[in-house]
Amino acid sequence: MEQIIQTAYFATAFLFIVGLKRMSSPMTARSGVIWAGIAMMLATLATFFWPGLSNYALMILAVVIGGSVAWILGKKVSMKDMPQMIAIYNGMGGGAAAAIACLELMGHKLGNVGLASLAVAGGLIGSIAFTGSIIAFAKLQGLMRERPFTFPNQQYINLIVLVSSVVLGVLLLATGWGFLVPIFFVAALAFGIMMTLPIGGGDMPVVISLYNALTGLAVAFEGFAMGNSAMIVAGTVVGAAGTMLTLLMAKAMNRSLANVLFGAFGQETTAAEGEIKGSLKPIEIDDAAIMMAYADKVIIVPGYGMAVAQAQHKVRELAEALEKRGITVKYAIHPVAGRMPGHMNVLIAEANVPYEKLFDIEEVNPEFSNTDVSLVIGANDVVNPAAKTNPQSPIYGMPILDVDSSKNVLVIKRGKGKGFAGIENELFFKDNTRMLYGDAQDVVGKLVQSLKRL
Ligand code: NDP
Repeated sequence: MEQIIQTAYFATAFLFIVGLKRMSSPMTARSGVIWAGIAMMLATLATFFWPGLSNYALMILAVVIGGSVAWILGKKVSMKDMPQMIAIYNGMGGGAAAAIACLELMGHKLGNVGLASLAVAGGLIGSIAFTGSIIAFAKLQGLMRERPFTFPNQQYINLIVLVSSVVLGVLLLATGWGFLVPIFFVAALAFGIMMTLPIGGGDMPVVISLYNALTGLAVAFEGFAMGNSAMIVAGTVVGAAGTMLTLLMAKAMNRSLANVLFGAFGQETTAAEGEIKGSLKPIEIDDAAIMMAYADKVIIVPGYGMAVAQAQHKVRELAEALEKRGITVKYAIHPVAGRMPGHMNVLIAEANVPYEKLFDIEEVNPEFSNTDVSLVIGANDVVNPAAKTNPQSPIYGMPILDVDSSKNVLVIKRGKGKGFAGIENELFFKDNTRMLYGDAQDVVGKLVQSLKRL
């Protein structure tokens, strides 16, 4: 029987890797998720056949409750709320790894220093990922204030809590004193909370990705402690993928991971932004439609506001109306536009825009200078020229879409709201920029109507 289970675990590992590979392209991502889901089901089923298992009723009850809640919430969640859903599910993984570690340490494993140290490492990391993800969820869901929560000497206090948890873990291994187990876990769980409190809501996607990597690592450690190959492979794959994603996101924001974790970014700042010359110049819908109707090339630049307004379907209609008039339409996708990696790709794919029309920053930047109209829809920081020109700016050095070099710029936003970085954007004040005020879905819908009337 054990051989059959191990073979099933091997197949699981293989399917996880196939799934992950397919997730690397938006064209195949959906099937990648399905393959990974099948792998998870296979691993869960195979586990039921381990010799010596008991409590089947309890396990089935847990699977039914957990599976049903996840199914219902997965169906209901809107794209905008996806980051916090990922945070909470990911936290559950970390919590499960920590719970396994706790049982291992309270059981017989304390006698075996090798296995016990793996359980301690997995317990520590899993606990941090668990409580950290819960705070991330609470901030993004609006259950807690999103701004960084800071207090004097916070980083030293956090360091003391982290060092205490590590010391407790080492003491536990050295002495084998069972009473230290709960104290060790309380310290590790507390550190997860304290580490996440000073991080602003907008940085949460990077942090969630980091916790995802930590969960993977914790699961892999527990896999070694329990001799479970599926957990080792799945944990390692998740750990590696999460680490890469975390670093890529930090790089796309031109911030070090340390700055994301310890910089309390998103706090009210008094950073010198410099005087911005010019004024905001509104334009009527019909005039904007005429400007686009007589263009040869239009580049659409979606941002967080498009996600908030759920305007992606209207945006596709607009692009189609322009294309009917023989105008070339492209979409410029910034890697950190929106609030989660691939946010714009997912929304635009949801609206059935052909993937060939999406261009990433390196491909599209040289094209702006020969573009008649760039239509910025709810994007702000990712088109802010201060990232290139103002060394005082918090986003200085972040690669941006060079929208300012196009012949005309139309910006759709509701008012004078700032972007995630909380700074003014000189693009909106430029001579060749016109503002279309309103909710993105509403404004784009009106543009489509106006174009059809021309
Ligand atoms: P921003 O957050 O910079 O700006 C969004 C703009 O959209 C606001 O200025 C707002 O202005 C406007 N807006 C909001 N709601 C609507 C609406 N309903 N209709 C029309 N406009 C609306 O977005 P970007 O996408 O340009 O930049 C993303 C930012 O998030 C970057 O700073 C990035 O570093 C950060 N970030 C991204 C992550 C990712 O993984 N993608 C992760 C973490 C951070 P107004 O209120 O006037 O309407």
